Amino acid sequence: MKPQHRFSDTHAHLCDEAFDADRDAVLRAAADAGAQFITEIACEPDNWAKAEALSKANTGFIHCAFGIHPQDCHKLDDASFLELKKFLSLPCAKALGEIGFDYARCDNSQESQRSAMSRLLALANERALPIVLHCRNPFDAASGPDAYADLFSSLREVWKPQGKTFSGVLHCFSGMDRDAVSALDLGLALGANGTATYPKNDPLRDTFRKAGLKNIVLETDCPYLPPQSKRGKRNEPAYIPESAAALAAVFNCAPEKVMESALENSIALYRLAGN
Ligand SMILES: [Zn+2]
Ligand SMILES: [Zn+2]
Repeated sequence: MKPQHRFSDTHAHLCDEAFDADRDAVLRAAADAGAQFITEIACEPDNWAKAEALSKANTGFIHCAFGIHPQDCHKLDDASFLELKKFLSLPCAKALGEIGFDYARCDNSQESQRSAMSRLLALANERALPIVLHCRNPFDAASGPDAYADLFSSLREVWKPQGKTFSGVLHCFSGMDRDAVSALDLGLALGANGTATYPKNDPLRDTFRKAGLKNIVLETDCPYLPPQSKRGKRNEPAYIPESAAALAAVFNCAPEKVMESALENSIALYRLAGN
């Protein structure tokens, strides 16, 4: 039986080796659960061609974002930059990302992350593509610099937002109220995933409530960050309804409404209408 609801996964890493054994089954399960489309985030040069092939084999269901994750920003050189431009010219390329700052578990210096970010944001301007942003504070947030503050200042310095509704997405949003306000000011949607289901994350759910459904898209970041009932397991797009249910409780509405709103937002974000 077809599910009553429809949703999209705006941020998946299905080319990850965690899916090598059963990728097709995972895609079928996603479609059976109500997924209308999935955005594959290819953010490591080795994955760009794989993501293109995955999208080609699933046209209309999977499209791609191509970029370089802050954890891999040491791989950004003239050759890979040229290669990235090539992938961003493909019809399946709907965004540049994920790019950004990771101060939690990253070997690359903050300085090298900042210089990669400037170069990649200039490319986003040139191509007028939406951007997919990654931002993580140090585990002990009080101990280090604020990744969100650095992200917003680099966006304000370099980036020219060019979307009608959204110019990009701050995926796996985990910031505070003030970070959500800055993100929305810049024309970014907020990406909500399994972390919105974790019992300790009341402040995060409250920040999403203040941001409003009209600014939220749903994502998995799979294979990472499964929702509460799947903690410790591999995440996959079919689990999105659990995250939607956690937000529905906050917005006092049906999960279907959260999924439908997020789906519409994701179509605007990745400019899919009419495609
Ligand atoms: Zn990320
Ligand atoms: Zn990701």
